[in-house]
Amino acid sequence: MVLFDSHIHIGQFRYLYSTPQDVLDFLTKVGVDRFAVSSITTCEGNNEKVLGEMLEMVKIGGMKVVPVFWVMPSMLEDGWFEKFIDCRIQWKCLKIHGYFCNWDTDGWQIEKVIAKATELKVPLLLHTGGRDESDAGSYMNVIKRHPEQIFILAHSRPVEQAIDVMQHCPNAWADCAFTPPECVSEMIKCGFADRIMFGTDYPLHNVFYAGENMEDLYHKIVDEIKGSMSEAEWDLVSHKNFERLFGKI
Ligand SMILES: [Zn+2]
Repeated sequence: MVLFDSHIHIGQFRYLYSTPQDVLDFLTKVGVDRFAVSSITTCEGNNEKVLGEMLEMVKIGGMKVVPVFWVMPSMLEDGWFEKFIDCRIQWKCLKIHGYFCNWDTDGWQIEKVIAKATELKVPLLLHTGGRDESDAGSYMNVIKRHPEQIFILAHSRPVEQAIDVMQHCPNAWADCAFTPPECVSEMIKCGFADRIMFGTDYPLHNVFYAGENMEDLYHKIVDEIKGSMSEAEWDLVSHKNFERLFGKI
């Protein structure tokens, strides 16, 4: 089975620190061939550290790695946005987190990030869920305004809103990170199998499910998501959509 994970992190999450090597070793063990990864250290505001982690990730992971630039609003004002863009990493995706930070969906800040994603011809990953301002539906208008730009609704939350956005916007995709299998199944039934990507948010499970066997847990997640659709649909969700968005190697 070919399996790509579109939602992976390295770095500091609460008390857990995951090095690029830790994450690469784990994903290799569970059979993941390619993955899209951002550094969750970004939330600490230590950009120097984030840059070091991402450079290391790309260096050791090579072609397996799809590097994701997690943009914070502060970076648009302090020069770090340009610094990250101009670094040696060839970003394949940009990301913003509307739960962790305030992103005005009508503001110049989000427009600047979208303009860069469009220029680089890469998707923009949007965290969804947690509060009104970051729920999937709050991005409807901004996604509609940019029909040429692909947006990925990370976590697909809440699922009715994710479905609504995907119905109105053919440029809206979704990932399955922490998405209950029954929600994935609902989206599949709506005909979105060609716009959904498997993803897990690993290694955050080490914190949320501390004490559990991570390999077993990962395989269980794969099995549950796989079980929520047909074989042909899983073919798309597990890797073909990822290839379509991030390129083949
Ligand atoms: Zn995440």
